[in-house]
Amino acid sequence: MQLNESVGGNLVPVDFPLAILKSDPDSDAARELLKNLKNPYFIRENAGLTQSTGWIDAWQTSPSVYAVMARNANDIAAAVNFARQNQLRLVVRGGGHSYQGTSNAPDSLLIWTRNMHDIDMHDAFVPQGCEHTMQPQPAVTIGAGTIGIQAYDAVTTKGGRYVQGGGCLTVCLGGLVQSGGFGSYSKHYGTAAGSLLEAEVVTADGQIRIANSCTNADLFWALKGGGGGSFGVVSKMTLRTHELPEFFGTANFTVKAASDDAYRSLIRKFVGFYKDNLFNDHWGEQVHMNPDNSLEVQMNAQGLDADQLKAVWKPFLDWARSNGYSASRPLTIGSFPARHYWDEDWWNEHWPEVALPRNGNPLHALADDVLLHVMSQPVMTNDRRPGAAPGNVWWPGTTGECAIYWWGYESLWLPQSLLATDQQQRLADALFAASRSFGVALHFNKGLAGAPPDAIAGARDSATNPSVLDAFALAIVADGEGPCYPGIRGHSPSVENGRQSAERIDRCMNQLREVTGPSGAYVSESNYFQKNFQQDYWGINYPRLAQIKQKYDPDGLFFVHNGVGSEQWSADGFTKL
Ligand SMILES: Cc1cc2nc3c(=O)[nH]c(=O)nc-3n(C[C@H](O)[C@H](O)[C@H](O)COP(=O)(O)OP(=O)(O)OC[C@H]3O[C@@H](n4cnc5c(N)ncnc54)[C@H](O)[C@@H]3O)c2cc1C
Repeated sequence: MQLNESVGGNLVPVDFPLAILKSDPDSDAARELLKNLKNPYFIRENAGLTQSTGWIDAWQTSPSVYAVMARNANDIAAAVNFARQNQLRLVVRGGGHSYQGTSNAPDSLLIWTRNMHDIDMHDAFVPQGCEHTMQPQPAVTIGAGTIGIQAYDAVTTKGGRYVQGGGCLTVCLGGLVQSGGFGSYSKHYGTAAGSLLEAEVVTADGQIRIANSCTNADLFWALKGGGGGSFGVVSKMTLRTHELPEFFGTANFTVKAASDDAYRSLIRKFVGFYKDNLFNDHWGEQVHMNPDNSLEVQMNAQGLDADQLKAVWKPFLDWARSNGYSASRPLTIGSFPARHYWDEDWWNEHWPEVALPRNGNPLHALADDVLLHVMSQPVMTNDRRPGAAPGNVWWPGTTGECAIYWWGYESLWLPQSLLATDQQQRLADALFAASRSFGVALHFNKGLAGAPPDAIAGARDSATNPSVLDAFALAIVADGEGPCYPGIRGHSPSVENGRQSAERIDRCMNQLREVTGPSGAYVSESNYFQKNFQQDYWGINYPRLAQIKQKYDPDGLFFVHNGVGSEQWSADGFTKL
């Protein structure tokens, strides 16, 4: 076959691993598959699988017919030309982590960047054509298929620098940068897109182009947050690297209230405490407000040592203890060397040092100043399959998202005006009301209010909805079930439960929308059914994005659900409306 020759024999038929769960559910192979579906690296290795298996009443994962296992931009150009000339439905996949199902489609040709993960560090990088306008800067060039842990291993563990990837270690930077892209420390470093210096990209005409602020600057801007799979296929990216602080740290605990009234007070207290103590570039990640009246703190810090972390939280925990709140899991507050955060060997060596509180109530432990010095998130989970590549690790918190079938997923930026003293009660009331329907997670690292000027400037010069600049957090509410796929005995989605759950998620978010107004949602972590997606994902940037789409892809070769220009196409991307 002509395409197979042009890509050096790397055109492969795609099979559908889930099929065996229907055809032979009692077999050893089916049992093994179910186990492996909770391993993100197993999913990653299969062209016919995606991290999410679907979304109720929306999409379900379906394999392409063939995949090009691209090695470089030339392979990608050959596949793009073949798809255009033969009018094929084309799909691009990096790490397969799209919640919206935008990296799979039935009856399609897949371009897969998984094997493109070369990494080169630079001390002084200047984008092509910018020799007279930009200062050289430290940077890293990565293949578009590079996933978080590969980048962190090279840049941080081995290189002693920081690169903005995602919180999840198996998210691919190709998709992440085009999403905007947040990691645990984005409140300090900004979005991944904000650090992009240059991309190599194959456009719909099959041209391999360089895009940076001096060459194809419009395309470059669109790639920074305009959404993956809409403007071309990125083959390589160069991202600015940043200095590492000495320490990263964590604050992890859950405070529980005994009554609804006590929970209202707890949320109100936390909102004020956040504004006064945590609303700055040291603090990111999440706090969850749950229907069982618990406040779950899972925050990460940068640039603070263990004593500083303890000092920050002590007043809040003292208040909680003296007002009769209890803790429902061990309290963990501490710091660790930033360079070793993504270093599996370091964690294996140091985890045993972790001290746990000495008595039953961790809040009392805190009051007695029995605090922890070397602390952490739980250690990484390993890929234990025989022959698995070393370095296949992930944070255990993301296992639940492997092979998940979504009931609903919504996000909303929360403007910083809600933290003003005279607005805090209103925000707290809305959070309490929302938590009656569902658990609400506030992701502080996904709103850039409180970030340093550089981080703000990087995101301002990108396609991401400018709401992100003024938001102190992104609220996320989501639910699903997994491993799950329609028609599989014992693992088929329970449709009625799912629809009820989706309704509750919507009710919950409506409480927050009452106080935020139309503030927008994060393109890659949002509702499949987002009604005003153009406005919500990109705000005032949408008309410019639509023009750039028209310029580089006038015939709509690149289509993704709710992508730029997708309103001109049928839902399956096959028919122009
Ligand atoms: C478990 C989990 C955790 C997550 N955590 C975070 C997080 O911490 N921060 C955050 O910001 N987001 C997070 N996300 C969202 C994630 O960043 C986005 O879904 C991102 O787009 C995934 O990229 P991918 O390449 O892994 O996925 P894919 O599904 O392969 O790709 C996503 C989209 O980008 C396109 N694309 C991928 N590669 C290319 C390329 N080279 N050229 C052109 N288009 C391409 C695809 O066509 C698709 O439309 C998370 C998602 C999951 C499932």
